[in-house]
Amino acid sequence: EDPGNVKVVVRCRAFVRREREKGTQCLIRMDPATNKTTLFAPVEGDENASRRVYEDKEFTFDKSFWSHDESDPHYAHQEDVYRSFGEEFLDHNFNGYHTCIFAYGQTGSGKSYTMMGSPENPGLIPRTCEELFERIRDEPTPNTSYHVQVSYFEVYNEHVRDLLVARTALPNYLKIRDSPKDGVYVQGLTEVEVKSYSDVERLFKQGDLSRTTASTKMNDTSSRSHAVFTIRLKQITHSLLSDETIERTARMRLVDLAGSERAKSTEATGQRLKEGGQINKSLTTLGRVIAALSDPKRHNPKGRRPREVVPYRDSVLTWLLKDSLGGNSKTAMVACIAPADYDETLSTLRYADQAKRIRTRASVNEDCMS
Ligand code: ADP
Ligand code: MG
Repeated sequence: EDPGNVKVVVRCRAFVRREREKGTQCLIRMDPATNKTTLFAPVEGDENASRRVYEDKEFTFDKSFWSHDESDPHYAHQEDVYRSFGEEFLDHNFNGYHTCIFAYGQTGSGKSYTMMGSPENPGLIPRTCEELFERIRDEPTPNTSYHVQVSYFEVYNEHVRDLLVARTALPNYLKIRDSPKDGVYVQGLTEVEVKSYSDVERLFKQGDLSRTTASTKMNDTSSRSHAVFTIRLKQITHSLLSDETIERTARMRLVDLAGSERAKSTEATGQRLKEGGQINKSLTTLGRVIAALSDPKRHNPKGRRPREVVPYRDSVLTWLLKDSLGGNSKTAMVACIAPADYDETLSTLRYADQAKRIRTRASVNEDCMS
């Protein structure tokens, strides 16, 4: 077992055109030497400032990615984000550990950019997949065969939908099961065997096309769903020396969460509001799970096991991410922030600050077959 804290990094995006045109002021500063992130109070006259008194707030995370200003020598490109922990997480997978990286933040803060990116600027998911196949090709372990499977689903309105099957007239909502052997899983989820990067690239493109999106006032292409991309890496090694066959299966989960903003701030109405409310159910439950897991009392049970108070089963998302959040996994959270939204950014930074205290216990997932 390898206990460790959830790795928490923060990334601040550039102004989008709308913000540039308004002459918006940037409220974020990051110090690359100390990894400190400071959120500044909006100044007098700023539309944010009139409502109440604001204070400067300072946070420290495992890493601060400054992706706001490309002319800055410390600007963090997609490649830098991948090199700084994506690569390390891929190492963990090859060593047999489950991993999970999830992106948290308000709509428009850069979650999808960080996880998937664009064809010109690919994010963590394509980079991880590409390097996975490069390693299998260029640095294979002797006497080892590799098997890679991919699945992609979304949680939308507390339903699980397979993103790797063609959309049909009938909704194909899948059930969640909990088995003593396999843990929590989605029943009947498509798992596709992939042999190369282009195989997997085709799949995540197909999945993204099928992802449910609804436009809100804040962001036309904003997604109201949580997308979970999973890669399963199986390594079967036959030792000629001991004549043993060892099977290692590690799973990596890459999660692009729905926007963390409250439904009211998007002035959503009707169906949209209902969706917002239900998405909040998964996100508020995630918040409660993180709060329970980060409670310092949890780690000092005075000889007694702590009572099971973590409300994993209260939402679909937290139930499915149970292992990744508090169990057998090495886990990272990328807190994505916009440069000029005091309230939402403060709430994201506080959330991330709490996540730092979560400890997981990852162990190598290995079986001896003979
Ligand atoms: P989210 O998924 O959190 O709603 P997006 O990833 O769609 O947000 O980002 C919102 C907009 O900001 C997009 O136009 C995206 O291309 C841009 N963007 C986000 N992060 C960056 C970044 N680090 N550098 C450049 N542009 C970014
Ligand atoms: Mg998105």
